[in-house]
Amino acid sequence: MAFIADALSCIKPSPTIAVTSKAAELRAAGKDVIGLGAGEPDFDTIDYVKKAGIRAINEGHTKYTAADGTPELKDAICEKFKRDNDLDYKRENISVNCGGKHTIYNAFVATLNEGDEVIIPTPYWVSYPDMTLLAGGTPVFIEASIDAGFKISADQLEAAITPKTKWIILNSPSNPSGAAYSFEEMKVLTDVLLRHRHVWVLSDDIYEHIVYDGFKFYSPASVEPKLKDRTLTMNGVAKAYAMTGWRIGFAGGPVELINAMRKVQSQSTSNPCSISQYASIAALLGPQEYLKERGTAFKKRRDLVVGMINDVPGLSCPTPEGAFYVYPGCAGLIGKITPEGKVIEIDLDVSTYLLESVGVAVVHGEAFGLSPHFRISYATSDDILIEACGRIKKACDALK
Ligand code: GLU
Repeated sequence: MAFIADALSCIKPSPTIAVTSKAAELRAAGKDVIGLGAGEPDFDTIDYVKKAGIRAINEGHTKYTAADGTPELKDAICEKFKRDNDLDYKRENISVNCGGKHTIYNAFVATLNEGDEVIIPTPYWVSYPDMTLLAGGTPVFIEASIDAGFKISADQLEAAITPKTKWIILNSPSNPSGAAYSFEEMKVLTDVLLRHRHVWVLSDDIYEHIVYDGFKFYSPASVEPKLKDRTLTMNGVAKAYAMTGWRIGFAGGPVELINAMRKVQSQSTSNPCSISQYASIAALLGPQEYLKERGTAFKKRRDLVVGMINDVPGLSCPTPEGAFYVYPGCAGLIGKITPEGKVIEIDLDVSTYLLESVGVAVVHGEAFGLSPHFRISYATSDDILIEACGRIKKACDALK
């Protein structure tokens, strides 16, 4: 009898984390590697947030807290939802978890039974299907192709819904494509969902503050308030506030779901880190202006990368509305031959070639369920991006 659980054979280690670790390993071994794999802002956590964490330690907030978050942080999250999304949640509607990933995982463990279906638009963030599978659910994919701007249509959504559908995950702006749904585009989808009363919406809004060119972000429950009592509006401090390591994710949703998620959490991690919770209050309620400044830096980087990647023959890179990723198509490289004589057959061959030939780490599209593509995270300095895109061009130019 196998010692490792059968469920583990259905999932793989997170490819985004694997690429990031591989780049770090090569760098530690003295190789000149530029990591564009990790979806992590290069900015530091802002000073007053750090100080709030230090103050929490000095004031002795170093003990267990309520399992799914302190009342103070829940109040701050309610204020955030009202301020940013015009959503009214009360304390009892809020769950605080050890990172956004944990929020989603808790929701799935709390709700999925064997065979329940979770609709996931592709390209998707690598962890959605595997978290679904681990919790006993079945992922159902809808392709949001490059030609469709990486967005799904109402017809596609309608066709994917079955009596077994439990959730649809919406992630706008998207990891990995950066595509974001406008109010009207989101409304088309929420109109479909209104008609299917058994389907719940998990809205992963983690990139809400990273949008460009005046794009206005809308969460599904703000677009269609009638969906609010079957929507989990999920967010976190990691991406907007550059707090990836603090591990605080949160969600607003109906009390029954929030209570079920608390039950799961109370039997697994207990509370999220007490110190991080205090720092998160400062992040959510403190001055927000610097998010715009960081957004301006991200926009400059986006434009730089889109421009340079579109200059590479064989690659095609749409301009995304948000997040800090681009997801170029690399169909033009498939079938080409490397200087070492290897045929590029799939997008994993492209990412492997880029890493081995010019030391640029990107994540292959197959990991996100839509090929042939690869993901570049441009959350790094302009100089590094210029160097990396130059190397990508050099490598692609060398293909025959
Ligand atoms: N969400 C980020 C990414 O996609 C961090 C790594 C992860 O958790 O997947 O790269």
